[in-house]
Amino acid sequence: MLLYHGIDNVGDSRLNTRFISKDTFEQHLAYFKEHFHTVSLDEYYDAPAHPEKLTITITFDDGYRNNLTHALPLLEKYECPASFFITGIRDAGYDILWADLLDLVSHHSSEELAFSGLIFVKDKKGHFVDLSSRKTLKQFCKDSGWRFKLNMMHSLFAAIDPAILEQTRDYWVQMTTSEIRELSASPWATIGSHGYYHNNLDAIDLSSAKEELEHSRQFLEATTGTPISALAFPCGLYTRDVLKMCNQLGYNKLLAVDYLFDDDDLNLYLVERIGINPYISVTEQMAAILRGTYY
Ligand SMILES: [Zn+2]
Repeated sequence: MLLYHGIDNVGDSRLNTRFISKDTFEQHLAYFKEHFHTVSLDEYYDAPAHPEKLTITITFDDGYRNNLTHALPLLEKYECPASFFITGIRDAGYDILWADLLDLVSHHSSEELAFSGLIFVKDKKGHFVDLSSRKTLKQFCKDSGWRFKLNMMHSLFAAIDPAILEQTRDYWVQMTTSEIRELSASPWATIGSHGYYHNNLDAIDLSSAKEELEHSRQFLEATTGTPISALAFPCGLYTRDVLKMCNQLGYNKLLAVDYLFDDDDLNLYLVERIGINPYISVTEQMAAILRGTYY
C-alpha cells in the first residue's frame, strides 16, 4: 500500500517534503501499469492478490487540491484506482491544514509568535520554540487538540505575508467540498477519512477522538453521498483503544504508516503503508516498493 501526499508541476519539495512532480508520478504509473497489479482499496482488502504480479494500491493523504487537478487526470489516463484521505478542515472553515500553515510561517517569517499565554521564538534550525519549556511549537501541536491549534492558526495568519500564501497555493490549498464531490465522482477514486482536524489520535482523549471520527464521516458522507469506511490515521498515529473504537464506529479499513504495537500485524483491518520518497530516483523508488521497505 503506497502513500502519496501532493503532486506539483515541478517537483519542488522545499515547501512540503512529501511532494513529487506530475512527471515523476506519471513515471510511477507507467511502471505500475506494466509491472504491478494496481487495485482499488476495496479490492486490496477483499480480493485475492495477483498470482504473479505485486498487488499494490495507491493512497493520497491530506486532501490537497492538486490531488484532483494533477493526480486524478494521470490516474484516469493509466486507469489506476487510488484512494484519497481527506480531513474536515474545509467544513471547519479553513482552506489550509494547520501543519502546512506552520511550515510556511517557519520558512518565511522571522517574527516571534505569542498566543495562549506562550511566546515562541525561532531557533537556529528555524523551529519555533517556547522559551520557558524549550518545547517546540510542533510538539505542542502534536500534544494538543483543536482549540490550541486554532489559536495558533490565527497567530500564524497574522504573521505571514498574504503574497507568500498566494504564491505557494499549490502546496497547501485544500479541496473545497464541491471539489471533493468531483473527485469522488470519478470511478478511479475512493474517499476516506483523515480525521476532522488532523489531530493526532494518540494524543487527544478518546471521547474527542470519537467525536472527530464521527464528525469526519458525517462531513464526507454528506459531501460525497457514499458510505465512508476507511480511515488513514493522521501522522500514522493511534492507540489500541483508538483501534477498538474505530471498529465500533464502522471504520473497517485502517491505514497506518508503520505498525505501532506488537500484535498489529494480527489485526486484519490495519495495514501499513510505504511513503513515497521524493529524494530518490524512480528506479530506487520502484526497488523500495518491491522490497516493501527502504532498508
Ligand atoms: Zn496527514
